[in-house]
Amino acid sequence: MGWLRNWRRRRLLAHHRIDGALWQSVTQSLPFLRGLSPQEMQRLRELSLLLLVEKEFSGTHGLVPDDAMRLSIAVQACLPVMNLGLDRYDEWSEIVVHPGDFKVRVSQTDDHGVVHEFDDERAGESWPGGPVVLSWDAAANAPEMNVVVHEFAHKLDMANGEADGNPPLHSGMDRRAWAQAFRVAYEGFCDVVDREKETWLDPYAAVSPGEFFAVVSEAFSAAPNETRRRYPDVYEQLRLFYRQDPASRLPS
Ligand SMILES: [Zn+2]
Repeated sequence: MGWLRNWRRRRLLAHHRIDGALWQSVTQSLPFLRGLSPQEMQRLRELSLLLLVEKEFSGTHGLVPDDAMRLSIAVQACLPVMNLGLDRYDEWSEIVVHPGDFKVRVSQTDDHGVVHEFDDERAGESWPGGPVVLSWDAAANAPEMNVVVHEFAHKLDMANGEADGNPPLHSGMDRRAWAQAFRVAYEGFCDVVDREKETWLDPYAAVSPGEFFAVVSEAFSAAPNETRRRYPDVYEQLRLFYRQDPASRLPS
């Protein structure tokens, strides 16, 4: 039913728009949008409008996501798929916003078969088919860390199953080149974390190849020049995957 959805989307874009002043204030608060061309900003605006209509937003602990919050999340969510299309987010429908970081009950089995249960503090969470869960406190502090891009990168990764750092690649991309670039970068990163040295990326990226992909996707959008300098092969794969080259638009 792709044609029906496309028709609905075209009709929606013809009859609705995002308030101009709201668009200005939200996009100016997101420094990594700088350098986008007027055409790209227009595409981002249309995708954001569609996402706002097609996904359901809800809050917890008394938080009711207002227009500025919802638009900020929508813009950050649409940036990675600006050249891929909103269909990439088809498999789920809800965005849940917590006022701040939230606790999740985690159960882990260690090497001895012992199950450990504990509360883990999170800024975001997502799982296959389920909602994207975000801390507004973290989402609003986008320049330093980008929990929105992080969680939506997991969503793109989960399009073929687990969030394992192996998302479905476009035709023409080389699976071996992807695997090689990420394996080398991830192993090198884990090595530095193991030696308890300071890392440029959030050390959380060492948790798994899936987390590494999500964290490096944040860096790709927020600090692309540094990402390209430190991880040129990974940057090249992300450039092909996201079909955009943020280092070429943002000053180093
Ligand atoms: Zn994650």
